Amino acid sequence: MEEAERGGRRMAMYHRETDRERIERNAGAIFDLHASALAWLEEYTGIPFPFEKFDFVLVPAFQYGGMEHPGAIFYRADSLLLDESATQNAQLGRASLIAHETAHQWFGDLVTMPWFDDVWMKETFANFMAAKIVNPAFPEVDHDLRFLLAHYPAAYGVDRTAGANPIRQPLDNLNEAGTLYGAIIYQKAPIVFAHLERLIGEDALRDGLREYLGAHAYANAGWTDLIAILDARTTEDLAAWSRTWVEESGRPRVEVALETDGDGIARLAVRQSDPAEAGRLWNQRLELRLGYDDGESNTLAVHLRDAEAVVAEAAGLPAPDYVLANGAGLGYGLMALDPRTRDYLLAELPAIDEPLTRAIGWVSLWESLLEGDVGPEALIDLAQRALPAETDEQNVSRILGYLTSAYWRYLAPERRAALAPEIEALLWSGTAAAGSRSLAAAWFGAYRNVALSAEALVRLERIWREEEEVPGVPLAERDFTALAQGLAVRGVADSAEIVAAQRERIDNPDRRAAFEFVMPALSAEPEVRDAFFDSLREPANRAREPWVLTALRWLHHPLRARESEVYLRPGLDLLEEIQRTGDIFFPLSWLQTTLDGHQTASAAAIVEQYLADRPDLAPRLRAKALQAADGLLRAARIVEGSH
Ligand SMILES: [Zn+2]
Repeated sequence: MEEAERGGRRMAMYHRETDRERIERNAGAIFDLHASALAWLEEYTGIPFPFEKFDFVLVPAFQYGGMEHPGAIFYRADSLLLDESATQNAQLGRASLIAHETAHQWFGDLVTMPWFDDVWMKETFANFMAAKIVNPAFPEVDHDLRFLLAHYPAAYGVDRTAGANPIRQPLDNLNEAGTLYGAIIYQKAPIVFAHLERLIGEDALRDGLREYLGAHAYANAGWTDLIAILDARTTEDLAAWSRTWVEESGRPRVEVALETDGDGIARLAVRQSDPAEAGRLWNQRLELRLGYDDGESNTLAVHLRDAEAVVAEAAGLPAPDYVLANGAGLGYGLMALDPRTRDYLLAELPAIDEPLTRAIGWVSLWESLLEGDVGPEALIDLAQRALPAETDEQNVSRILGYLTSAYWRYLAPERRAALAPEIEALLWSGTAAAGSRSLAAAWFGAYRNVALSAEALVRLERIWREEEEVPGVPLAERDFTALAQGLAVRGVADSAEIVAAQRERIDNPDRRAAFEFVMPALSAEPEVRDAFFDSLREPANRAREPWVLTALRWLHHPLRARESEVYLRPGLDLLEEIQRTGDIFFPLSWLQTTLDGHQTASAAAIVEQYLADRPDLAPRLRAKALQAADGLLRAARIVEGSH
């Protein structure tokens, strides 16, 4: 146990670490981070720390990063005891975790939600507070960019689907609590909370939270209690705001209407519509960015609450080369690009100065691809031009992700094969040119992911045989395992020998057992793969869920998709049993790993037939199926349409 005093308060840290140096290196920072989080929260809430003592316990193999027991926070020891080589990301992660758990002492412990339908609320609060506490201490990080990339793509991934769920969901039975969790709670709710602050103002939100905590101290209160308090502090109709943003699913379609008059703007307006055609209106404040080819830009605030908002001060400004409705990266919705903006971004996006604006452009272009407004080859071409010029590591990772998704999901196999050599060449030279080890690993991961040409397969095999090195990337056992599996699914001549040899290379018995479990899913023999899929009907064979998911990914790899289509219907038919026998995240992961490798109209038809045959499917399970099927249904339209 270590003790320290900060700001007149004694804190104790319990641990089982035997490495004295590791404790001494970290203890001071851990006490300081807790003390500064406490001081910030006391100031923000106007309520002194509400419990008698403030200790923390470092548990060696704790299943969560942290758990907010009042006065005695539990942490996974490794989350706080950092190595000397810890990256800035790890430092930021530790500071955020400490601020999150400390914020829970007020939001979650002092005031607790009455029931699980509001469990999202305390987690969102804790993250919202943690960002306010921690971000100023890391001025070198682009926090707006980090927030955009960490939240929007994942939130849209669910909210654009027919299976989208609201943030706040009724829950009848605690047994189903697990089904509440997902991207809508973890990624959409923080965005919506940031909107709330922009809508009513920072001071009104802080004062309302003070009243809420004071009125319900050491008791239970939920979302409706908070909205009632905040509603009294603003002219906005927060009950209506909460209905569309929190109690219902989905997002608006937002578009910019620009009328020019020679070289100037005659009229600029923003419009919204309800993709579900239910006439809903989403109330949000936006910042329109008007960009010009010479690098100049204008940012104009607009409050979109009706079907249209006119931006009066835009009249008379020079006509822009592009307009982004979510200029600051906070607007939420399907941000439809007007044709001029779309074409400008496809041609010139890499030349835009600000990393955040480039990221906003990418997120919008990806939505345009899914809507069928931008072709996959145009996006892949842009990625090839943008990647060598991209200076921000977060953006590089995001673009590599879009490139590989477009390549496997939205290109027909013959186009994929035709484009592979130039994409491989770009990714291999990018690996060599990357400045840092993490960046080089990201480039190489994408290279390994897309490799299809004979030349690339020869190189991957040489790397696996340790006859060639990857510049800047020291490979670990995990990498050699993935290389062997990737070579097997690509059907290289000696794949059986490679897989057998990789098995021998793995000494750890657990990792070897995992590898052996996956082996039949990679077999070149269709009968072996059939037998493996059949074995999954037995619940005992699904007990190691991460192994099952890895095997399903390989079984349904795009290169095997034609042959694995026969597993789609039986895989879907197992869904209800999977939910009964599996862990809470398993049904969605089962669906995703089953469907993600497919792109054909015949595969889409199998899913649609399943949904038509099963109107009795439990609503939450049906929603998961619709979420997981969204990419396949879009791919079938996009790929078939490109023929
Ligand atoms: Zn939490």
